[in-house]
Amino acid sequence: MAAGYLLKEAEYEDRPLSDDEMWSAFAYLFSSKSVNDTSYKFGFLKSILDNLYNTDSKLVLTFDQLFAKFAEIYWNLVLKHHIRQKKPGKLNRRSELENALLYGKAKYDILEDIPFESLSEDMRIDICHKVKMKCKENVVGALYADLGGLFYSFSKKGEWIRINPRMYEFVCKHKVAIEKLNYYEWAKFLERVNEDSAVDHLLSKIDESTLRTRSSLAYYRDILFQEFENKCFYCGKPVTKHSVEVDHFIPWSFIKDDQIWNFVLACPECNNKKRDKLAQVDFLTKISERNEIMIERDQSNKESARRIKMIYTWAQKNGYNEIWTPKKMSV
Ligand SMILES: [Zn+2]
Repeated sequence: MAAGYLLKEAEYEDRPLSDDEMWSAFAYLFSSKSVNDTSYKFGFLKSILDNLYNTDSKLVLTFDQLFAKFAEIYWNLVLKHHIRQKKPGKLNRRSELENALLYGKAKYDILEDIPFESLSEDMRIDICHKVKMKCKENVVGALYADLGGLFYSFSKKGEWIRINPRMYEFVCKHKVAIEKLNYYEWAKFLERVNEDSAVDHLLSKIDESTLRTRSSLAYYRDILFQEFENKCFYCGKPVTKHSVEVDHFIPWSFIKDDQIWNFVLACPECNNKKRDKLAQVDFLTKISERNEIMIERDQSNKESARRIKMIYTWAQKNGYNEIWTPKKMSV
């Protein structure tokens, strides 16, 4: 299946799979047998991992969802951190992806180090579309083939992938390990094609390529503050709009995505103490009930919001074992 990138559509192999077989598929992807001229495959796999909980009930992700992440990851790596995604060679050639990003930057007259989240929505949509049109041809079939046709079905015309449920469960269980292998191989590739200075702190530049700044979370803070009690979710202390912080209930470092169903308002003390930990399980019940209200009011996607209990369990399986309890609880 060497010429996977030429495929227009394909189905995943629908048969029982052992854990060994699934690990082998990833081992192949991360081996030297998987050929890379650009870093697309690593970026696309990250886009899927970062969107893992955003699928519909049939485990479908659209190209728009995937390439929105893809564009954001690369915007920050290429334009903010100046990391090349293809060996320049004598002709200093750029990848299609880099060209698409530079097109966006020139069209909107954007300063280099503006993070993707700070662009207007119209700009982001236009740039994501351009990146999607340039990159979907090569990467979707290539990653499909390198994972032995086991991970997902896809249609370039329909612009979707559908994840194999067997693989979905496997990837959820081993998300952190797979993500780290992906970063490791991606970093090795980038070190080969870049000057030394560009790859300082390379791993955190990749890992944090979709991390939002506190100010851009204000949007979620405002919605939650208007709609729900003005008290810390964890300790119940009264908070004002200016003293309250937005907390990722399941830590951001595990989810790598910002979704309203995973946000609660916390006082600075609780937010600071909780950090990268899971909260005590009573709060899982509390946030699930809160999310049901949001679903009813049409403020949150139903499928994803109802997955929060599963995600909590997956996070524990992935090493998030330290459970945090606030000094005073408000359940
Ligand atoms: Zn608190």
